[in-house]
Amino acid sequence: MKILLIYPYSIDKRIQEDDISVVPMGLYYIGALLKENHYDVEILNFYDLDKDSPIIRNILVEKKPNLIGFSILHANRWGGIEIARIARDIFPDVRIVFGGIGATFLWEHLLVHFKEIDFVITGEGEYSFLNLLESLQGKIALNVEDIEGIAFRDGERVKKNEARNHIQDLNKLPNPARYFTYQHLSLTRGCPGCCSFCGSPQFWGRGVRFHSPDYFVDQLDILYKKGVTFFYFSDDTFTLKKKLVIEICQKIIERNLHISWSAISRVNYINEEILLWMRKAGCTQISYGVESGSEKIRNKLNKAIKTDDIKKAFALTVKYGILARAYFIYGCPGENEITIQETIDLIQQIKPLSIIFYILVLFPGTALYEDFKQRLKLDDDIWLNRVEDIPYFETDPDLPGEAVVDFGKKLRFSYYDNIHGFADNISLADKKELYAYHADFYSRLGMTFSHGDYAGIDKIKYKDRTAAGLYQKALDYYPDHRAYLGLGIIQQKCGMYEESASTLKQGVSHYPESEPLNICLGITWMNLGKYDEALSCLLKFQDSKDAVGHIANCYKALGDTQQEMLFMEKLRFI
Ligand code: SF4
Repeated sequence: MKILLIYPYSIDKRIQEDDISVVPMGLYYIGALLKENHYDVEILNFYDLDKDSPIIRNILVEKKPNLIGFSILHANRWGGIEIARIARDIFPDVRIVFGGIGATFLWEHLLVHFKEIDFVITGEGEYSFLNLLESLQGKIALNVEDIEGIAFRDGERVKKNEARNHIQDLNKLPNPARYFTYQHLSLTRGCPGCCSFCGSPQFWGRGVRFHSPDYFVDQLDILYKKGVTFFYFSDDTFTLKKKLVIEICQKIIERNLHISWSAISRVNYINEEILLWMRKAGCTQISYGVESGSEKIRNKLNKAIKTDDIKKAFALTVKYGILARAYFIYGCPGENEITIQETIDLIQQIKPLSIIFYILVLFPGTALYEDFKQRLKLDDDIWLNRVEDIPYFETDPDLPGEAVVDFGKKLRFSYYDNIHGFADNISLADKKELYAYHADFYSRLGMTFSHGDYAGIDKIKYKDRTAAGLYQKALDYYPDHRAYLGLGIIQQKCGMYEESASTLKQGVSHYPESEPLNICLGITWMNLGKYDEALSCLLKFQDSKDAVGHIANCYKALGDTQQEMLFMEKLRFI
């Protein structure tokens, strides 16, 4: 039996695809369980396709699946339906299974309206999916009606079986890293919060379940050995159990895993001890859901966090050289100029070095969605519209759309206006053991201003100046490779060639084998008309495309036509 697990495309195109491009972890868990049970299973990421792409049909024809499982969030619901239709068109007998948070809360709607869907897995999918396969193949004596956690069509009717209990011992799940390679992983399932805009607690439950430190670090270890060095820990709140997280950090250090990672937490679940360990184990960023500067709005969103805790968490996180990212939501019930100003004021106080602003949208499985259905006397058939989500403001006559768009602009522009000041005002813990980490923190942030996300935003002021200041601060702590290079490039860009040469020479003295430092220094020497010095750097990398063109130019400037032609010729074949 050939099984495909597909992560379908979303409907709307994004400028930044980060939040839709990643295969949800759940598919890897299901894939691993099926592999352990000797099924022929493959995971396919179709996030960047659309229904008109011939690739979908070609791949399906090549793979000849007997059953396809789709991982459905809300945004990719239509993607799943459209791919299922293509699959059914090619293979009329293929079984189609939908699962994931988007399918769980809309199981009835999906089965009633979309005949190509045979089964919906509701809730945690691993064992329901396995049992379904076993039942379809007659391997177990369970009929489909008896399998917990599935819904299905029975003639003209649709039925939902008993819910399956949550998996209490997550360590019993086979380690997906043995079979797949990925960067997003999670330590926990569940969230004790009950934010009215979030479906997580209803899907995973409010009681939180944990993997053991060994299970989690084994996973990192296997992936690290496969070459993955950056990870995203996608738990709702990674730091719920401090002792457990510290143990994980200690194991990462003991096992010499040279990795970097980001995590998500809540402002009331961190302290200095945990931050110290997280930083030493490679954590570079923690994201916190702040949602609003207005306590009134946070209460309406059921976000039970205090302003003092928010301030404390942001100050402490940065103190340990971890970038504190804030999530804010606008266009909320009761939003107005005053509440937006309260958010701007809070941002001024907590000085986040990264913010994601979202418009409040409604999804099935959330309290706000239930309230919306009651207020507007609607039902789930609203999702027959080919939309990804429902912006809250469209359901609230007190929130005109133009005003919400203006709120977003005001928040973003105010942030862009101030971010350079936030970066200038960082104060780090004076702990010797953290100096190299502090240098890493400053140089990463410098890179964001000079080459990364902020470099492309016109509204952000003094980017190079801010970056140069951050690189210099990094070097005051430790001879950081990234900082030498970043500072050398900025000085070069500004025509400060003597300064650039001095910075890069120091860099090369620490990292003599570094190709980018040597090439950059070579270019600086060329700008100073010192071609022999330039060649001494560049000739170390005669197989590098970046170096060879510059080498030819050096020989040209020195009047050595023979060598110039030789390297020009070489360039053609690199
Ligand atoms: S938003 Fe975060 S804290 Fe709130 S319920 Fe969802 S996962 Fe939990």
